[in-house]
Amino acid sequence: MPGEVHVVSHPLVQHKLTLMRRKQTSVQQFRALLEEISILLAYEVTRDFPLSTERIETPLVEMDAPMIEGKKLVLISILRAGDGILTGFLKVVPSARVGHIGLYRDPKTLMAVEYYFKVPAELADRDVIVLDPMLATGNSAVAAVDRIKERGPKSLKLVCLLAAPEGIATLHESHPDVPVWCASVDQKLNEKGYILPGLGDAGDRLFGTK
Ligand code: URA
Repeated sequence: MPGEVHVVSHPLVQHKLTLMRRKQTSVQQFRALLEEISILLAYEVTRDFPLSTERIETPLVEMDAPMIEGKKLVLISILRAGDGILTGFLKVVPSARVGHIGLYRDPKTLMAVEYYFKVPAELADRDVIVLDPMLATGNSAVAAVDRIKERGPKSLKLVCLLAAPEGIATLHESHPDVPVWCASVDQKLNEKGYILPGLGDAGDRLFGTK
């Protein structure tokens, strides 16, 4: 059974994504745009969070005011490009707990190899959002979700900027219960596992390493 895919088609997201795709876009602009888009993605992906009310006092009266229910959200960034999305998410959910998973792609097999794993100790009863700008082969996403599920989170979602159809299929083959939120589902992968038309290497463009 295929899993859910949500494409955030908001004009601001789509416009900023086009600016990010352009090869002339500088590192500084790319970083700022990723943060801005991430804020907009965070707004959409948290839309279904349940609210409860808390009794508060305004300067005038008491009222039952809405608050997000449950324990603090956990954001898990897949290093290193996930940190570009994390910055934006933390602007709008500043109290979120944060985890990091270090995975690199073996250039020959394109399989994910884990080199770092540090997430909040208690994931049970918490909603978790995994952040990785590029859902390409899907191997890193599957590896990350495999590891996070060992900790029994209440719910899991994956947020990326671009998704390849191949990556979505791979993720949902192993984890059909994990919905994907993205700004675009692009055409396909090339033979090196890059997304086409894509935006290049998200980590290099974010950190200026090429
Ligand atoms: N990772 C990237 O940074 N870019 C791609 O196109 C695919 C994977």
